[in-house]
Amino acid sequence: MTLGDDKKRSDENNLQPFKEDANSGFTKKKVSGTGWRLLKRIRVKAALSNVLRLLYPFYQSPTAAMEAERERLKKVACATIDAAADDLAALSAGIWEHPELNFEEHHAHKVLADFLERHGFETQRSYKLETAFRASHGSRAHGPNVTFICEYDALPEIGHACGHNLIAELGVAAGLGLKAAIEASGKPLGQVTVVGTPAEEGGGGKGKLIEHGAFDDVDVAMMSHPFPANDAKPRALAIEIFEVVYRGQESHAAGYPWKGVNALDAAVMCYQGLACLRQQCMPDWRIHCIILEGGVKVNVIPAKTRLHVGIRAPTDAQLARLKEKAMNVIEAAAKATECQFEHSVITKYASVLHNGVLADLYSANLSDVQAERGPEAYKEAPGSTDMGDVSHVLPAIHPMFYIGGTAVNHTRAFTADSGAACAQMYTLAQAKALALTGVDILTDPSLMDAITADFRRGLKEEQETAK
Ligand SMILES: [Zn+2]
Ligand SMILES: [Zn+2]
Repeated sequence: MTLGDDKKRSDENNLQPFKEDANSGFTKKKVSGTGWRLLKRIRVKAALSNVLRLLYPFYQSPTAAMEAERERLKKVACATIDAAADDLAALSAGIWEHPELNFEEHHAHKVLADFLERHGFETQRSYKLETAFRASHGSRAHGPNVTFICEYDALPEIGHACGHNLIAELGVAAGLGLKAAIEASGKPLGQVTVVGTPAEEGGGGKGKLIEHGAFDDVDVAMMSHPFPANDAKPRALAIEIFEVVYRGQESHAAGYPWKGVNALDAAVMCYQGLACLRQQCMPDWRIHCIILEGGVKVNVIPAKTRLHVGIRAPTDAQLARLKEKAMNVIEAAAKATECQFEHSVITKYASVLHNGVLADLYSANLSDVQAERGPEAYKEAPGSTDMGDVSHVLPAIHPMFYIGGTAVNHTRAFTADSGAACAQMYTLAQAKALALTGVDILTDPSLMDAITADFRRGLKEEQETAK
């Protein structure tokens, strides 16, 4: 944190009473945006209640009582997460030590489901997909179903280089915290659910879960993702990943090369053509390409090659335009070499539609629980996620959080940061911020209206931009 930030924080604290609880680590500070406006509204009413209490010493308004109860439940949630810190760190370390690829996350699926079951959640293993799970407490008959998302897949060769072990940990931790708050309330406030979603790294696990109706009874979905910096509403581009196969004719490379049709030439032309196309792309479009098969022996003209191509853009309409351009290149390489080609879509994610009300509540709660924040994000580093698909069917957030290092995602250095002890402090702060946002939603029935209205507004705005 910079000195300037310290000064700002201290000014904010002078403007507003600063409560601190040594046991829970939960503090209350000034916030901004929609969440701040909501809290300000509550505090204006609270000030009025103070006047009434001066006049009538036994007076306690429903709003003040509700506010006090909410703060009590938030402390319960934070204390519960802190009490489970060692177990949560061990859970995360176990997943980090057993990196598993798309749809093969059997170890993570088992240890996460075991953990939630041990903590009293009604747990469904292999929920809709073999390595997905769902664990719930409470009932939607009494209030919203607040859902936390776990991811736990890793990358080939470089392990947990996207820190999904920490996403799994904080999703479970947020669930524990909110469950404890519901129990402490002594009332059926609603439902808390933890959903384990496999295969984020190109497998589209969440899209498949949506197709199977896994989110049909969910009111809000929240998760948080490790990153070299903090960002409550990071840009996440729409993405399509597809496979291209070129087919030619094998032949002896020295004796009869003129009888061959070289599929590797097609693959190389495709790769180079896509590289040239990058210069004509919008600044926030992205193209990636790898050659997975490039021939079998140097003295045989390659008859088959296989590539994976990834394209990204901020909107579906721009992504469609980029696809058109990429397909021209792919087709041209086939024509130039007289190869045949096939292309098939592997996965496609929508961009993320961040719910403004949820994001503001999350930011306000994070400020309350986290003193040491780390750097704020540089906006020019967009990614993509299957949480984008979830954010288009229900209100959702996908913030990014600093984990104590400067390494960037998808590197071995980031794998090391994701497994380091210092990541725990930041991960638990995220779990608390999500759990406390859940407490806000379950204790204030009017919040769901604001969250739903913002969701509809976001969808409409996106449709109008696409025209
Ligand atoms: Zn990743
Ligand atoms: Zn990731």
